[in-house]
Amino acid sequence: MACVSFPYDAPVSQTLFDRASLVTPGGVNSPVRAFRAVGGTPRFMVSGTGPYLTDADGREYVDLVCSWGPMILGHSHPEVIAAVQEAVARGTSFGTPGEGEVALAEEIVARIEPVEQVRLVSSGTEATMSAIRLARGFTGRAKVVKFAGCYHGHVDALLAAAGSGVATFGLPDTPGVTGAQAGDTIVLPYNDLEAVRTAFAAHPGEIACVITEASPGNMGVVPPLDGFNAGLKEICAADGALYISDEVMTGFRTSKAGWFGVDGVRPDLMTFGKVMGGGFPAAAFGGRADVMAHLAPVGPVYQAGTLSGNPVATAAGLAQLRLLDDAAYAKVDAVSAEIRALVGEAFTKEGVAHTVSAASNMFSVFFTDQPVRNYEDAKKQEAFRFTAFFHSMLAQGVYLPPSAFESWFVSTTHDTQAVERIAAALPAAARAASEATA
Ligand code: PLP
Repeated sequence: MACVSFPYDAPVSQTLFDRASLVTPGGVNSPVRAFRAVGGTPRFMVSGTGPYLTDADGREYVDLVCSWGPMILGHSHPEVIAAVQEAVARGTSFGTPGEGEVALAEEIVARIEPVEQVRLVSSGTEATMSAIRLARGFTGRAKVVKFAGCYHGHVDALLAAAGSGVATFGLPDTPGVTGAQAGDTIVLPYNDLEAVRTAFAAHPGEIACVITEASPGNMGVVPPLDGFNAGLKEICAADGALYISDEVMTGFRTSKAGWFGVDGVRPDLMTFGKVMGGGFPAAAFGGRADVMAHLAPVGPVYQAGTLSGNPVATAAGLAQLRLLDDAAYAKVDAVSAEIRALVGEAFTKEGVAHTVSAASNMFSVFFTDQPVRNYEDAKKQEAFRFTAFFHSMLAQGVYLPPSAFESWFVSTTHDTQAVERIAAALPAAARAASEATA
């Protein structure tokens, strides 16, 4: 790791981290939160309002993580909080069907045309795991194609060459996933249709599905090249395989209809999470009605969940989705463009080789001026510069994802004042990046 100094202490966060480390592996409940890629003390947050987070030491940050995507309306949106309070007052879980989950499913189906039916689950991991099982059950085939650098949650079969935390830590895969579990997974380079054609030619009639991030954000932001998603769909259709678009990150964020709203390529199955839960554990998978009809209790493919369609989570998700109209997306897109321009200018001024890569309002910085089209390209960046950049921004009150391989996220509440704070922090942080050494 690059040699960086940590410009200020966070004594209360450090004490909490020490306590946490005694009772929880690495002191965190999801690895990337531990700051291992950048060093220093993870900040324990105590509250969030609009675009700001406040940590346990009482310092305020402009939040460019937004809980890794969900908080597209900012923190503590009054209407979302009110919907949650109303729901919680009626009880927290019934283990029966309820109207809230019907309304959330109707909202998803109304927004995303290829989704004819949808099933609610509690995490993005559960959504992709269930979609893969359904694809295998529907086709009667075993093999799954995924792309290097695409992260689909910590599903055993999909933890081969995954992005996100796996990319951050440089793990090729993980102990605990057996050869049998990953043996039917074919990992291909992203944005390479020829590689997909070759794999299908080598395994005709054996591939159940291709799963891809609709527009990847887990190796940094690497959008699909023109025609890539359409090509995947075409290759799948020709062989009788299903095309699964993982929209856990892009869904309800990159447009009203997620990435489908951007490229219009019609998947057989789709997965969702993050934004649709309004900050609560709610996720979903859905798609073609004839495929979804293979799910229990109608069909033979088993899938279930004690807390699936939880009334508090569905109330939060529904309230958030109902507020996400065209004006909201226009606002998020505009502030994203503004911040991207500021970031690019700051690095250019300091002579730092960089690419600000965007997919709609998601974006990230690669410390290279070479094109980044896949995970191999992404790994060639000078990630050590990110460490210095990150800590300078943090010290100046801007909270970035603690890894060079993650998307940055903004919300409707990132207003002029928040953008000004980011702009004020950028010159020193870009200088720190330019002076960093490997
Ligand atoms: N799929 C994608 C594209 C993701 O970005 C993520 C999480 O970041 C997941 C799936 C897994 O979602 P969860 O963390 O809710 O299990």
